[in-house]
Amino acid sequence: MSEGDHNTGSEEPQEAPGLNRRHFLKYLGFGAIGAAPLPILPSLLRKTLDQKTVRSNGAPALAPNGQIRQWTMIIDLRYCDGCQSQGTPPQCTTACIEGHFSPEPMEWIEVYEAELPGDGTQFIPTPCQQCQNPPCVNVCPVAATFSTPEGTVLIDQNRCIGCRICMAACPYDRRFFNWGSPPVPPEALLADYSAEHQVPAKKGTVMKCDFCPDMARAGTLPYCVQGCPNDAIYYGDLEEDIATNGEEVVSASRLLSQNQAYRLKEDLNTKPRVYYIPGHGEAVGRDAFTEGRQPTEWPWIERAKGAREWKR
Ligand code: SF4
Ligand code: SF4
Ligand code: SF4
Repeated sequence: MSEGDHNTGSEEPQEAPGLNRRHFLKYLGFGAIGAAPLPILPSLLRKTLDQKTVRSNGAPALAPNGQIRQWTMIIDLRYCDGCQSQGTPPQCTTACIEGHFSPEPMEWIEVYEAELPGDGTQFIPTPCQQCQNPPCVNVCPVAATFSTPEGTVLIDQNRCIGCRICMAACPYDRRFFNWGSPPVPPEALLADYSAEHQVPAKKGTVMKCDFCPDMARAGTLPYCVQGCPNDAIYYGDLEEDIATNGEEVVSASRLLSQNQAYRLKEDLNTKPRVYYIPGHGEAVGRDAFTEGRQPTEWPWIERAKGAREWKR
């Protein structure tokens, strides 16, 4: 994909205030981005989350105006083809699984295939919607799931008692339970567990998409954003009004307002932080009448002890 391929509306792609896109792309070594497995990205983040604002201990990151960053995700369905053009399982899902060693069959970002009005289908990548009025948080009896000042919803597996009330409360079916002791690869056992990076998985606890705020604070985009070959997923900060898919930096509010963005089940008043731009992959050549996507893979699972016997 070349620079400017993603049009954010009827006008030219918009730059976020204060960001020089050409400089940003040059800085990143534009051209190599698509080939890099985990490109070092934005400058959403790199340029404005400097040493004073990057926190590694989970303290909230600050926008240039001094306010706490408000993480958001914008998924442009015009560019999502369910990875049909790649002939692979959805790469957003696979990248998230690889990054978190998520137990099979958890798909923290699941790519649903939904029917379009009239005929045809569309693919809808669906992570936890990071609700600002989260039913899951409201019902947790031990406050193991909680909202953060940056607007993310997390689960502390050290506190979770496995009652699964939150799973029943989530209207998006975005929570998963570890019924048994899931296989864990050796490298996951070495991980430094935090609620922002739920590795390794723990028996009898609930897990879900954590929105990767630790990565954002470190100037790196979430795995799912980096994994998308079509640059369909933007991640950003509503406070600074900025978002990036790794290829371009845009004004989040313009991207949303110029493209009839919507949120899932808005009538429930859950106030998700995940937005969608309508489409069915047409911008990357998808025929809406071609159905199906490749089944999800857990590339790490063969390295995990007990994987052969793992039954959900
Ligand atoms: S999508 Fe579900 S799990 Fe995520 S914040 Fe909303 S209610 Fe909670
Ligand atoms: S934001 Fe992070 S945890 Fe959520 S789907 Fe993307 S990679 Fe997975
Ligand atoms: S969002 Fe990107 S990676 Fe995920 S299914 Fe769509 S095209 Fe593939």
